[in-house]
Amino acid sequence: MNPFGYTRAGDVAEAVRTAASDGAAQFIAGGTNLVDLMKERITAPSRLIDITRLPLRAVESLPDGGLKIGALVSNHDLAYHPEVVARYPLLSQAILAGASPQLRNMASTGGNLLQRTRCYYFYDAALPCNKRAPGSGCPALAGVNRIHAILGASEQCIAVHPSDMCVALAALAATVHVTGPAGSRTIEFAAFHRLPGDTPERDTNLQPGELVTAVELPRQGFAAHASYLKVRDRHSYAFALVSVAAALELEDGKIAEARLALGGVAHKPWRDPTAEDLLRGRSPDDALFARVGEHLVRDARGRGHNDFKIALVRRAVVRALQQAVAGGSQA
Ligand code: SF4
Repeated sequence: MNPFGYTRAGDVAEAVRTAASDGAAQFIAGGTNLVDLMKERITAPSRLIDITRLPLRAVESLPDGGLKIGALVSNHDLAYHPEVVARYPLLSQAILAGASPQLRNMASTGGNLLQRTRCYYFYDAALPCNKRAPGSGCPALAGVNRIHAILGASEQCIAVHPSDMCVALAALAATVHVTGPAGSRTIEFAAFHRLPGDTPERDTNLQPGELVTAVELPRQGFAAHASYLKVRDRHSYAFALVSVAAALELEDGKIAEARLALGGVAHKPWRDPTAEDLLRGRSPDDALFARVGEHLVRDARGRGHNDFKIALVRRAVVRALQQAVAGGSQA
């Protein structure tokens, strides 16, 4: 590990000021990804700005019926928060599908958004990687790419975003609150993470020095008909090969509103509003769900080892929507 400085921030303004004064500094909360990245010499911050003492641990009900989640709320506390369990079970299910109890105790809401890909080549500093060293190449293109992207990838990078929580947040149309040197702003969840394009080194649209302070959920939580389906190599402590967050509002036997997001398939949680359009106003049935699954992979491209993900998405979408109709979590 490289030497680095350490600062404990007393408030958000101080944290942002410190980050603005040192472009190579990074914020640290739970450290469940960042410390690994530092140990493997994938990242070498000049300074860690400890934000764990900042007042960002509240979960607040908002006057418009939404819920504001402080960036330092742990994944464990969020998954079991009574408001989340009762009103946003999709989010609770997705969080509990990820990592391990020990990691969920440490990992923060803000940090979950910022975790980096688990592409094997990214974590091997002896190999080229456009995300780690721009312009050096992408060995995954012709290498072992079983866990890699089938949607939205580029010839520069085919990595996937590893989070489960973020797939649910995409389906729920969350908003991210950030504060930076230029002030505070909100970012729609769909615009928070990026596709790789020609700049795979950038995972998000955060500007330098910006700190995630909260995530806001809108009023509509799809409590009665939501399900998170995660398909992985083993039943716990494994990243998704494919995951689906499905949420429906049913009225008089018809789908009044629909949300779908995919994980494990792209550089960001993959939400395709045209797939949701296919569901609205229709009666839920397996033939419709199969058409939606087919639609979601219409532009998918396998790279060899990950070709199986295309068929897996088709089937996982059907099953997730069946589970959502039934109002249950993954069997
Ligand atoms: Fe690096 Fe992306 Fe290629 Fe993985 S897929 S080796 S992260 S450039």
